[in-house]
Amino acid sequence: MSEEETVEINEMVIKCPACGVDGIATSIMKEIEIPHFGKVLETTIQCKKCGFKHSDVISLEQNEPAKYTLKISEETLSVRVVRSQSATVSIPEIGVKVEPGPKSEGYVTNVEGMLTRFEGAVIKALNLFDDEVSQTNAKNTLSQIRELIKGNGTATLIIDDPFGQSNIVSDDVVISEIPEEELKHLKTGFSHIEDN
Ligand SMILES: [Zn+2]
Repeated sequence: MSEEETVEINEMVIKCPACGVDGIATSIMKEIEIPHFGKVLETTIQCKKCGFKHSDVISLEQNEPAKYTLKISEETLSVRVVRSQSATVSIPEIGVKVEPGPKSEGYVTNVEGMLTRFEGAVIKALNLFDDEVSQTNAKNTLSQIRELIKGNGTATLIIDDPFGQSNIVSDDVVISEIPEEELKHLKTGFSHIEDN
């Protein structure tokens, strides 16, 4: 998080989108300049009354729908990742996937931070499903993620963004078109179906 530069901060008191109380929730906007990528606008809404918190990032650069593929390894753990609300993030070798939904958030992180988020999601699943098969699968997934965080082994990080708002900022990233057939099945986060 060190090399990026925050160029503008705008703080407002708003009506909370969750509880509707006026004058308590804040909306903080930051314009962040990411080297070799451009500007993104990060918005964080936080309500002290009901505890609602939501953040998102919007790229201020013009982008096409794209699939970003990066090999996760010790060398790429610090690579900057921009995940917008509309992006699907997956690591096929481990079988983990985060799809956009009404509760999904956009954020700026790095590959290690992305893995830590996956780790958190798996820990949540471990507490949710207590049958033996789910527990074994989740523990297996967890140990694979933790090995990657330690810099052991490799896997593939894929970000599919139908709005091209996401990015993996590295010379090693492979940017390709999202195949038509895949694009049709990608969730955008704007449907009414709850999926996360
Ligand atoms: Zn509220």
